[in-house]
Amino acid sequence: MRIARFNGGRIGVVRPDTDAGGGAVVHDVTGAVDVDPGEWPPVGMNRVIAGFAEHRTRIEEALADAETHPVTEVRFDTPIPWPCALVAIPVNYSDHAVEMSSPAVSRNAGFFVLGASSLAGHGGPVELPNVAGREVHHEAELAVVIGRRCRGVSAADALDHVFGYSCLMDVTVRGREERAFRKSHETFTPVGPWITTRDEVGDDLGSLHVVLDVDGEVRQDVTVDKMIMPVPDLIEMCSSVMTLEPGDIIATGTGAGVGPLHDQETATLRISRVGELSVAVTRGQLGNNSVYIRNG
Ligand code: MN
Repeated sequence: MRIARFNGGRIGVVRPDTDAGGGAVVHDVTGAVDVDPGEWPPVGMNRVIAGFAEHRTRIEEALADAETHPVTEVRFDTPIPWPCALVAIPVNYSDHAVEMSSPAVSRNAGFFVLGASSLAGHGGPVELPNVAGREVHHEAELAVVIGRRCRGVSAADALDHVFGYSCLMDVTVRGREERAFRKSHETFTPVGPWITTRDEVGDDLGSLHVVLDVDGEVRQDVTVDKMIMPVPDLIEMCSSVMTLEPGDIIATGTGAGVGPLHDQETATLRISRVGELSVAVTRGQLGNNSVYIRNG
């Protein structure tokens, strides 16, 4: 199942349009899962995920009569705007380690955590901060969405705690400041357009193909079997430190080919069996501060 947030916090299921014979449609199941789109904090999707065994039945019963919209006519919101933790893995592909001249690979560096307000949805925009002399890079990543609370889970049992997968860009100001500082700029973590559930993706994650282009020019092209620490090992590592909650997101690291984003460009990330996330890049006015100025 492909489950999304759209049009200001509504919950939808994305399926092929069997009637019109083309495209895909979003079935509005907001009522069936009892989510208030205007609620604060916006944790409706977290609850849907936590109770999915029950919610799935209600969703499937509601699909036949649900209002539908062509995917081209909705605005996809970021699927989980309020995760308890937005975890990211540094340097988890060896080809990216080479291009960054980085010895600090995932196996000996652990993870870092990003601000949830960096999350953005399909379409973007990704807003470049007003920082002079710095490159802002795209990083194409598979996002893992946790489905069941876990602490101290083994790699062998890890995938049983996964709800699904999504496309994620870990946009980054290059520099030597803390990663969380350079990667938590507002809109720097677009995710989506939807979450594809584990059963639909399957457990053969190594065959997933991650491709990112900028204005049609392919920049990154890698398969997930090139990860230094595969997804089950990442979940084991993270859950040994923290309790992972339903709706938590793990950005699993990027392959080689990271490079600068510029105003007015469009970046598109395709992950086989998962989805296709596209964002517009714009230039913003905020983001500069004494740290960037001091470091030059
Ligand atoms: Mn990254």
